[in-house]
Amino acid sequence: MTKFIFITGGVVSSLGKGLTSASLGALLQSRGFTVRLRKLDPYLNVDPGTMSPFEHGEVFVTDDGAETDLDLGHYERFTGVAAKSTDSISSGRIYSTVLEKERKGDYLGETIQVIPHVTNEIKSFLEKKEEEVDFMLCEIGGTIGDIEGLPFFEAIRQFSQERERGNCIFVHLTLLPFLSSSGELKTKPTQHSVKELRSIGIAPDILVCRSEQPIPTKEKEKIALFCNVNKKNIISATNLDSIYYAPLAYFDEGLDTAVLKVLNLDTRKEPDLTRWNDVCSRVKNSEGLVRIAVVGKYTQLEDAYKSLSEALIHGGMANKTKVETVWFDSGTFEKKSKTETLNKFDGILIPGGFGKRGTEGKINVINFARKTKIPFLGICLGMQLMVIEYARNVAGIIDANSEEFEEEDLKKSGEKIIYHLSHWFKGQNLEVREKIQDKGGTMRLGAYPAKIKKGSFAHSIYKTDRISERHRHRYEVNIKFVKNLENKGLHFSGFSIDGQLPEIIEITNHPFFIGVQFHPELKSKPFEPHPLFSSFIKAALEQTRLV
Ligand code: GLN
Repeated sequence: MTKFIFITGGVVSSLGKGLTSASLGALLQSRGFTVRLRKLDPYLNVDPGTMSPFEHGEVFVTDDGAETDLDLGHYERFTGVAAKSTDSISSGRIYSTVLEKERKGDYLGETIQVIPHVTNEIKSFLEKKEEEVDFMLCEIGGTIGDIEGLPFFEAIRQFSQERERGNCIFVHLTLLPFLSSSGELKTKPTQHSVKELRSIGIAPDILVCRSEQPIPTKEKEKIALFCNVNKKNIISATNLDSIYYAPLAYFDEGLDTAVLKVLNLDTRKEPDLTRWNDVCSRVKNSEGLVRIAVVGKYTQLEDAYKSLSEALIHGGMANKTKVETVWFDSGTFEKKSKTETLNKFDGILIPGGFGKRGTEGKINVINFARKTKIPFLGICLGMQLMVIEYARNVAGIIDANSEEFEEEDLKKSGEKIIYHLSHWFKGQNLEVREKIQDKGGTMRLGAYPAKIKKGSFAHSIYKTDRISERHRHRYEVNIKFVKNLENKGLHFSGFSIDGQLPEIIEITNHPFFIGVQFHPELKSKPFEPHPLFSSFIKAALEQTRLV
């Protein structure tokens, strides 16, 4: 029978609940258990797909095409278990399901209330089974005390109550602030947070306490006493140089052992930590340094490109090198001469993005990278702009542009090189999208297979001619322009299976100039760096050796 681990947070947000959940998942795997991780978000958006990356960080896309919280990215990177649409839920989704049911008459005669209708819906989400796993880890977004979070806390309380004892456990993450004036770690906020949790009927079994310093035994005893938690179950979580040290750090602190003990499971068998020892030694023993410039639009908030920054680190790990990523706002390069400042970088990357703002700056950057032969990777919008740049500057299509930007200007839109995709095949099914459709969940989303041309650079990177990568976009390179561009030296080395949608572009006579319509960063893991990132960093590393 699946055991449920509920992970909640208190005191402040951003304590790293997602990383704690992901690390615990990885540790349970190392003990031979199967795991799934789920995120329950109290916000009212149906999914984060329509939220600005400034608001909520990156939107993580699953294989089955759901736009989910970035924590699902952590889960996948740490456990290798591909996240699914059923692993992410928000209040918005719960309420809209309840309201739909109400309209259909499913609750005919009843008064619809948070308890039991909303809480029942949350519980049925928790029970949704994909396949039987040993552990289901469920993280509740936000912090205890948030008004929106209450139905979720109530639902997990009921859920644990309805199961036989020993099948659910509660892990609560809090903060122990350090007061430099008194030189003390303060336990009071944690006490208050636990009090709040207990007042709604949840008694935590394990407390994970974030602090800048290791927690002295005396403080642990105090927390245990005041919070009514076993002393051995007070886990200290100090700041780490790399998030990839977290699983081993939690192992040293005994987090997984504590979980197993609370659940009365055998703790004698030693875990196999080879994977994480190897990951840590790659992080620790990196020799070189490559500097990558990422030119994007949401660069003030690193979380907006979470998977991307991690994938670059993974690419570094594959080459035993450190990657220093420097973020630039694309507006900086609207003046062409400004691109010269990128000369000191070993590689340049343009990630995905939306809307016209900053695109001309990005096109200038692409032009610079192509001419100066600095390794360059373009992702999604990045690839579309590479096509536009090449079309304008090499193929002589001077007005080349994307429908996406011209629409914003309300100009007439003729046959565009990057056009709005209105229909395509997902397996056997025809997907159709109108331009004036709802914005939520209406892009080409999720994993699609693609074929790669033998003999191409992309083929030498992937070492296969069939790949599957995740997408999230509305616009696409127009197949009608492909022949002309090919004749001028822009090679299309990857296509959708039906050959209609260009997926990968590259040029020869350049150490690395590749554009991909999909998001390879979503599939990269520290123990399995994505080949595109490994080879991009390799090319960048070779660049450093040239100077
Ligand atoms: N804005 C572009 C599109 O919708 C690219 C999207 C992206 O980069 N994810 O096609």
